[in-house]
Order: sequence, then structure tokens, then C-alpha cells
Amino acid sequence: MRNWIRRRRAEREATCAEVAQVLQSYLDGHVDDLTARRVSRHLEHCRRCGLEAETYQAIKDALARRGREVDAQTLERLRAFGTRLAEEGRAGEADSPA
Ligand SMILES: [Zn+2]
Repeated sequence: MRNWIRRRRAEREATCAEVAQVLQSYLDGHVDDLTARRVSRHLEHCRRCGLEAETYQAIKDALARRGREVDAQTLERLRAFGTRLAEEGRAGEADSPA
């Protein structure tokens, strides 16, 4: 995970852990072009991260439409997901939902 910057020149695809770290910034448009490309490439085929990205996006949309009426449980679940992924690092190919 700490190699994020050092390996930038390779422009390899982001890992699940890396995506988890920058997903919110990515959706907010707050990452650089290279990071955006790497995340986008990962999301194209990683179902688990793709689902989380959709969930984040849905929450963002809801917030934009209705103020702060997203229930705290959902936010907490997402926060836990990000933390868990970051801690797992690359613990294998992920237990993607069937
Ligand atoms: Zn992933």
C-alpha cells in the first residue's frame, strides 16, 4: 500500500485495497488522472469494488437530493468496509458476493 506513489510510473491497475483508500475521493473527482485511470480500470472487472462504488455513488446522489437523510447504519457499514479492505491489504482474490 505504501508503494502507491513509488509504483505510479508503472501505471498498473489499482488493487482492491488501493481502491478502498481512494474510492470516495475518486467519486468526488479529487484524484489525479493517473489514479482515476487505475481505479476505473479496476472497477471495470472487480465486482466487489464496483458494488461499493455504486453504493457510494447512490449515497452521494441521495445527499445531493435530500440533504443528510442517509441513515447512519449505511454510512457506518461503508466506513467499516473501507477500513477492512485497507487492513486486509491484498489478502487474496476477495470473497466476491455470488
Ligand atoms: Zn476490487
